[in-house]
Amino acid sequence: MRRRFSIGLTGGIGSGKTEALRRFSALGAATISLDEIAHEQSRPGGPAFLKMIRAFGRQILDESGCIDRKKVADRVFLNSNLRKRLERLTHPLILKEMQSQMKLLFGIVVVDVPLLFEGRHEKNFDATLAVLAPANVRLHRVSKRDRLSPSEIRKRMFAQISDEERMKRADVVIDNDGDLAAFHQDVKRYYQAFCLIVTTQVTPAQAGVQNSDFLDSGLRRNDEPEQLHLINQEQR
Ligand code: ATP
Repeated sequence: MRRRFSIGLTGGIGSGKTEALRRFSALGAATISLDEIAHEQSRPGGPAFLKMIRAFGRQILDESGCIDRKKVADRVFLNSNLRKRLERLTHPLILKEMQSQMKLLFGIVVVDVPLLFEGRHEKNFDATLAVLAPANVRLHRVSKRDRLSPSEIRKRMFAQISDEERMKRADVVIDNDGDLAAFHQDVKRYYQAFCLIVTTQVTPAQAGVQNSDFLDSGLRRNDEPEQLHLINQEQR
């Protein structure tokens, strides 16, 4: 029997979610990015395109008639009502697409869900993983990556829940406050732990997964363990 073990990956702006997703993928996991789904759906002809123009007006379009995501982000991060409106409009479409993609995948499936806890989406996954990093480190990373001022980055940070809250709610956490090599190593350790937990009888604690609650609550193990890491590698 083919099995799926899904992990909802989250973290604040600039914490390293995309980097972690890329790493999980390189290790053999199947991955889904809700940001990418949102991007696809807001392109001309996509299911969110006209809805967004109706809600926010033609001023969110660029010269070529595409939705300028930065313009939308700038507007919604300054206004929580607009943000909620955007979420009400786009989230059901994004979740529907995520669910249909997940149905086609098996083995270890990691999904990047920026608003995992804010949107109470935990129930869609077998386990949750939060990437954490101090605010000043995230600010530095994002200002290097994007054309955003420190105050714009802080506004985005304050619109999200805190790392303390993520730490309380996630099954497992990775601190991404060191260099990339250390982060990649931690991602690999969790990937191996997920493989081990679902393919053998070892406990999460024995596998090096730190949150002991995970043992009881995080894993909804099905009947037959399989060589998930091998399955994933065959998939690629
Ligand atoms: P967002 O929520 O804004 O999409 P994110 O959580 O996906 O952010 P990433 O894009 O993965 O964050 O990381 C932000 C930037 O920081 C990227 O340019 C990434 O390459 C870099 N980065 C991530 N982790 C580290 C690290 N440990 N050391 C150095 N740079 C890092």
